[in-house]
Amino acid sequence: MKLAGPRSLPKAAFRYAVRKPMIEWQVCGVCNYDCTYCIQSKKSREGHPSPEETETFLKFFRGLPGAWEVKCSGGEPFAFRGFTRRIVPSLIDETPHTISTLTNLSAPLPVLLEFAERTQGRLGIVSASLHLEWTTPEEFVEKAVALREAMDPKARLVVNEVLVPDRLEEVARARALVEAAGLRWFPQVLKTKHGRFDYTPADRARVEALTGSDPSPREANLAPSYQGRLCWTGVEYFVMTQRGEVWSCRTARRHGQGFLGNALTGEVVLRAAPKPCPYGICPCTTPANRGMIEGVGLGAREEA
Ligand code: SF4
Ligand code: SF4
Repeated sequence: MKLAGPRSLPKAAFRYAVRKPMIEWQVCGVCNYDCTYCIQSKKSREGHPSPEETETFLKFFRGLPGAWEVKCSGGEPFAFRGFTRRIVPSLIDETPHTISTLTNLSAPLPVLLEFAERTQGRLGIVSASLHLEWTTPEEFVEKAVALREAMDPKARLVVNEVLVPDRLEEVARARALVEAAGLRWFPQVLKTKHGRFDYTPADRARVEALTGSDPSPREANLAPSYQGRLCWTGVEYFVMTQRGEVWSCRTARRHGQGFLGNALTGEVVLRAAPKPCPYGICPCTTPANRGMIEGVGLGAREEA
């Protein structure tokens, strides 16, 4: 296994870059929830790496030049024991990378507190997704507050919530509870396999009341289009599946494009330069919020 590509750029380019190199790693497919609006098919919400595959992934991370943010998602990463038992300790002890995670926060509180303890000084963001089909906002907020109090003070915890059609009043109530507890709430429009969900006119007004009319990628995920803008995904950002496939971004993967190799079975070759985005939807705010897209989020500051 070998990684080639952007690390050959001159060091100065990185010193002054606003972009923050990042990997979104789908650690496992398995999830203990089954949300009706889940964008991942049931078939893909299964499995996790074997112990041998886990070691190959860890070798890949040890071999990555520089310090990356490794955002571990699933499925549900905490539903895979290897995540807390092997992956987190190894990333902390054997690599310089920062760990972030996307979790439904369903793990028992002692497990979450142990994660908070283990990642002190090395935690980026905990994106905690609130799914009202599986928990109450009260139970979720109590856990989120306990986790935030225990975790690295420099790290951030953000509560994500999908704006589920026909349930927007419940969503608004949950938002009030989240914000009253001093937590940040981040709304996401519902996405489908083909794009954005088409809300009814009544729900559209409710959605706008919850997101604001022109939110930044830090305030809400409206799955906009950045078609034509230069995008550094594939250069300093990539997504990796539980089977080791590496893709430049989620949308590219959906179109069967932007394949960069396989970290488990072969070589990963990153792009040497950014490319204009060819897609009509950018469903995830993470690339924008790491400065990967020209003129958006952190990338906007770079131009200023
Ligand atoms: S918690 Fe996330 S991955 Fe699991 S079923 Fe719900 S939306 Fe899908
Ligand atoms: S702008 Fe979004 S959809 Fe387009 S290439 Fe970049 S990450 Fe992918």
